[in-house]
Amino acid sequence: ELANRMAERTADVVKSLMKMGMMVTANQPLDADTAELVIEEFGHRAVRVSDSDVEQVIDTVQDKPEDLQPRPPIVTIMGHVDHGKTSLLDAIRNANVVSGEAGGITQHIGAYQVTTERGSVLTFLDTPGHAAFTSMRARGANVTDVVILVVAADDSVMPQTIEAINHAKAANVPMIVAINKIDKHEANAQRVRTELLQHNVVVEEMGGDVQTVEVSAKTGKGLDTLLEAIALQAEILELQANPNRQAQGAVIEAKLDVGRGPVATVLVQHGTLKRGDIFVVGEQWGKVRALINDRGDRVDEAGPSVPVEVLGLNGTPEAGDVLNVVETEAQAREIADYRISAAKDKRAAAGAATTLEQLMAKAKADESVSELAVVVKADVQGSTEAIVQALEKIGNDEVRVRVIHSGVGAITESDIGLAEASQAPVIGFNVRANAPARSSANQKGVEIRYYSIIYDLVDDIKAAASGLLSAEI
Ligand code: GDP
Repeated sequence: ELANRMAERTADVVKSLMKMGMMVTANQPLDADTAELVIEEFGHRAVRVSDSDVEQVIDTVQDKPEDLQPRPPIVTIMGHVDHGKTSLLDAIRNANVVSGEAGGITQHIGAYQVTTERGSVLTFLDTPGHAAFTSMRARGANVTDVVILVVAADDSVMPQTIEAINHAKAANVPMIVAINKIDKHEANAQRVRTELLQHNVVVEEMGGDVQTVEVSAKTGKGLDTLLEAIALQAEILELQANPNRQAQGAVIEAKLDVGRGPVATVLVQHGTLKRGDIFVVGEQWGKVRALINDRGDRVDEAGPSVPVEVLGLNGTPEAGDVLNVVETEAQAREIADYRISAAKDKRAAAGAATTLEQLMAKAKADESVSELAVVVKADVQGSTEAIVQALEKIGNDEVRVRVIHSGVGAITESDIGLAEASQAPVIGFNVRANAPARSSANQKGVEIRYYSIIYDLVDDIKAAASGLLSAEI
């Protein structure tokens, strides 16, 4: 490949590498530094692809308002375990499968679309829970427009309900509450509404703006109302995209299929993805060989908010990777190569990505950072409350501290995931991180700070926040 691009003979390139002491074969990948040496050896000039080159190739042109058209909302279901997330997803899907259609068999590709009675189209992500939501967000793919918070009417607000609320709030995504299992005789919807209030979710019945819908995934009661509520929320959000441009989308699932090779389910966000399109997706690239929709049908194209399986990848991307259609195969390959080496460099650059010091340094470079997000875990509820209150008092109009999640108990992987997505440090007060959380923090470069004196904790955060402040002046 290198010989080809320099218009030199492969044997000569291999020979020159051997002279440098590298016993290589013609098909062996080289790292960027070695390649550059070889290129210079042959009297050529190496041009390394940079982030800005990538941006130029990828169509990042702003859409003109007149090119925008309404697009369906993308919905994620979150809530406590066993509150009925999966049941609800299944019930919504099954209610929408037209009887007789391929025997009612549906294809699980990671997302599906339904049409409400009034004709609105909605896209549901098929992986419930906030782990998927957070890891996508951490990778820069904000695909969710609306969160359905499922709360079982017989169990009410539970720890993961609160986590889900905090995740949705951190991502600034509006929420609709589905009060599920309303068929049960011990169901108490009012208790759910009241308990939500304690977590600053003010439902419409209590004068707030969060819609609630009582549903039963078991009997199907309220499902239509829920779907219309989502459609209404989507109308308020005025979701739009330009279908007439090169496609961009996010990978929501990817796997290596024995028969079909690497397969990725992509949710198109801009433009229209077509058969034959050349694309780069994360560190992989390819040419669309086939597109398969959520009913298992082959389609020629997929527009905004449509989920499709994409065949024709050269490798398996990761969930959260962004797919961009580009003009030529050479461009796709170059960007993928560049990303592979950039990722390697990044891994090599040791150290945490979100220490307080680095956040401050970043603030100096980037004036938009005016908020210091933190996650707080403490040993008892009283400490948690005291710390959150003290932290939220820090700051003024220009900079503030935002506690995106707080709780009682050890620091867990879920806390780390949330912290990573919001570039926040995690503060442990008289608690430690458990082993999985520690290794996850190491890997993701999330800073964990331990304290046993509230005063010290507040002081440190105050210093970090005022660092942000002085950086802005
Ligand atoms: P998830 O963990 O949130 O995905 O919850 P599941 O969908 O797996 O549901 C947990 C349990 O609750 C299962 O046994 C379901 O059959 C049951 N369940 C879910 N929705 C309802 C409902 O509306 N009514 C009743 N009675 N049971 C439900």
